Amino acid sequence: MYEIEYNGEKIPYQIINSKIKNMYIHIKDGNVIVKVPNKLKEKYAIDFVNQKAKWIYKKVKEAENQKREKVTIEPQDIHRLETIVSQSVYEYSNKLGVNPNKVKLKDIKYAWGSCSSKKNISINLQLAKKDEMEIRYVVLHEMCHLKYMNHSESFWNLVEKYMPNYKIYRKRLKQG
Ligand SMILES: [Zn+2]
Repeated sequence: MYEIEYNGEKIPYQIINSKIKNMYIHIKDGNVIVKVPNKLKEKYAIDFVNQKAKWIYKKVKEAENQKREKVTIEPQDIHRLETIVSQSVYEYSNKLGVNPNKVKLKDIKYAWGSCSSKKNISINLQLAKKDEMEIRYVVLHEMCHLKYMNHSESFWNLVEKYMPNYKIYRKRLKQG
């Protein structure tokens, strides 16, 4: 690993030799990669990177800020999520005639919601940024698992019965 120093901060970067004609700097997810033609001396690559220090610094900071924005959820968004979730749990409990044991908002990886065999429902906190209908779809989906612990045809028919256009929201959530 190499480093550049800018604004009192050290930014690491990687030099990768490649069959290319011109040197270029590539920044992905905040990682700096410098692609250098095979024949070029390393010293030139380092000089080049140092000349671009300000630009690299700016790009790396931008990437870091974007990452942070993705994970931060504002308190008012959580409050909104809580309201929508509790209202739809109430509504679908009545419609479906089932009651979850507990409903929790949680940081879940790889799923928008889950339902355990103990009838505990977890709702992903990241839904705080989503539209109301998408949140309602996740609640309905998990509530339907209280009747069917699988994704059988009967399960999907039940979801569809109470949200005929659920496929729109399901698709949107899959797209992230
Ligand atoms: Zn499911």
